[in-house]
Amino acid sequence: MQAHIVTLPGDYIGPEIVAQAVKVLEKVAAKYGHSFAFEEYALGGASIDRYGVPLTDETLAKCNAADAVLMGSVGGPKWDGVEPARRPEKGLLALRKGMQVFANLRPCTIHPQLAAACPLRPDIVAQPIDVMILRELTGDIYFGKRWRSEDRKAATDEMAYSEMEVERLARIGFEMAMKRRKKLCSVDKANVLECSRLWRETVARLAKEYPEVEVTYMYVDNAAMQLILRPAQFDVMITGNLFGDILSDESAAIAGSLGMMPSASLGSGTRGLYEPIHGSAPDIAGRDIANPLGTILSGALLLRHSLGLEAEAAAIERAVSQVLDEGYRTGDIFSEGCTRVGCTQMGDLVAERI
Ligand code: NAD
Repeated sequence: MQAHIVTLPGDYIGPEIVAQAVKVLEKVAAKYGHSFAFEEYALGGASIDRYGVPLTDETLAKCNAADAVLMGSVGGPKWDGVEPARRPEKGLLALRKGMQVFANLRPCTIHPQLAAACPLRPDIVAQPIDVMILRELTGDIYFGKRWRSEDRKAATDEMAYSEMEVERLARIGFEMAMKRRKKLCSVDKANVLECSRLWRETVARLAKEYPEVEVTYMYVDNAAMQLILRPAQFDVMITGNLFGDILSDESAAIAGSLGMMPSASLGSGTRGLYEPIHGSAPDIAGRDIANPLGTILSGALLLRHSLGLEAEAAAIERAVSQVLDEGYRTGDIFSEGCTRVGCTQMGDLVAERI
């Protein structure tokens, strides 16, 4: 297969970790007989420095012409003084909007080798935890109307959803559940919010098209609790932008290490935006000590969801698991008795095991 992949390394550790993911993808291409063409563009602070804006029209156009986009992370203290409208994070929001990616996918699994880093009780971690959180990304209270009174002492943020927005997100959730354990939990606050009642009705209607999927509905407060008490009960979890923002970070804490977690943002087609969930880690940038595994695993999601290369995606996940089995750790996941390695060496180790 020939594929065209745009990379947006971004800022601080971004270029270090993206280089490792590209190395691993190149190894996959060589091993499985594919040809991946990589094209690199600036995003965030790097783009502000070069072009004065965090995302140029040309970069967005290149992303929309590619098969998939692999990103590092953006932002950091260097650009803290930049006016709000041109901050690095605005580039990322504009990119998601411009690519029309409305579904954010965050797998939450616990690598058994890193179970000690999980803050949950050992008997809870001993169960197989494999949750796929699907968060709506372009609607909800983050994009609704906002208001602040003249005296600045009162404010409103409007939560808004349309049936279409819920349906397209839920459909991805049902399709994903069909390929997994056929369970879907829809999370809302339908006892209070009208948006949530629309959400629940829409999911219930769609559920009729997927009779094999066991659907449950959960209020977000209970879901936050259940994720900690019994995370193994969940397969696919779908929810809105605000609730998903919080639950997906909670799931990251459960998984134990920020540096390990991949994510994908998908739209209606196969093109997607892939990135680790962590930020640009300015405190460790330039020292070759960042953990590249979240970005490398984002590369696996890219192969699976944008290129349909399941065996190749699984090969990356297996290679990561093998490297952990062999005791190699970057500083953020290091524990007694393991071998400490840097970012580049971690990338080499994974690539060698493909
Ligand atoms: P962060 O995720 O960058 O860092 C939090 C802590 O985790 C730091 O101690 C960091 O060293 C560590 N860490 C993060 N990733 C790591 C990795 N791969 N390996 C080892 N350690 C890692 O969060 P922050 O410090 O709050 O934010 C820094 C900058 O990143 C800010 O400008 C923020 O706006 C931006 N940010 C960007 C994204 C994104 O691009 N999607 C997401 C979150 C934060």
